[in-house]
Amino acid sequence: MNVFLTMDYEVFFGEKSGSVDKCMIEPTDQLLKIAKANNFHFTFFWDIGHLLALEAKVSAFPELSKDIEAIIAQVKEMIAYGHAVDLHIHPHWEKAEYTNTGWQMNLDQHYKLSDFPQEERLAIFAKYKNRLEEITGIQTQVFRAGGWCIQPFADFKALFEEFEMKIDSSVMPGVMWVSPQYNIDFLSVKTSEPYTFSHDVCKLEESGEYTEYPIACRKYSPLFFWKLYVLGRLFPEQHKMWGDGNFIAQPGGKKEMLTKGKIHHVSTDGYFASVLQSSYSAYAKNGGENMVVIGHPKSLTKFSLKEIDRFTARNKENIRFMTLKDCL
Ligand SMILES: [Zn+2]
Repeated sequence: MNVFLTMDYEVFFGEKSGSVDKCMIEPTDQLLKIAKANNFHFTFFWDIGHLLALEAKVSAFPELSKDIEAIIAQVKEMIAYGHAVDLHIHPHWEKAEYTNTGWQMNLDQHYKLSDFPQEERLAIFAKYKNRLEEITGIQTQVFRAGGWCIQPFADFKALFEEFEMKIDSSVMPGVMWVSPQYNIDFLSVKTSEPYTFSHDVCKLEESGEYTEYPIACRKYSPLFFWKLYVLGRLFPEQHKMWGDGNFIAQPGGKKEMLTKGKIHHVSTDGYFASVLQSSYSAYAKNGGENMVVIGHPKSLTKFSLKEIDRFTARNKENIRFMTLKDCL
């Protein structure tokens, strides 16, 4: 079976963005060590808009230069180690303001690419992709939409065509979220196996131009979320997130998770990493051939790093750990 360990490389977009060191550099250093020891590669989806925003503000705020240097050095290290670095677009950076107290994101009406008119979408996509390729020295044809907001795909089709994108990995089968920021409806997708499409990211089309690699999803019980919250309180040392910012609210609040559970992605973030092995076993048992796992350096904990280490060490023989670039 193929397993793709993907990492969205970014800060937070809530009230506090958190620091580059805590959200990106330090936890990613840990990931790179584990990958080297266990001989596998990650697919990093780089929120490159963040770097462009830092670069736009650095003349007014020279203290940002150390963040810029640290990120670029780390991305070059990823590339040197053979990891894939691909495109992750959070376009709200176009509207973000920086002051002495940090970033103010201005997400309303600007969180997703489809919030922008077509001309601006094209300009943003071009700018972000070019800067990423300039730094990595490698063409990117693999995409994950910020906040998984890849719908309507009609808003992306011209961009995929123009910029030769081939693979998307934004779909979370069985998930629907609608909120002031999010607008995703992946309820009709019943498979976590890759499929080709041309017009609708949720609709398989034989010999479609693009390939969707859906993010693996599963049902989490209320008990899972109780454990997640309780363990975090009892053992903060093991379960405290590395990143020092705040999330934006995701639809399906805490109460619902604790009473009904939730369909959510298979993830290496925090306590989610505890079910990596069982999720993999369930997929394999059902004949699954591919499992895309999502994670975020900012959401890693000491516990989750140990679980990633254990999972990749233990399954060296029976899992092919691949990057999405390997599938082009
Ligand atoms: Zn993201």
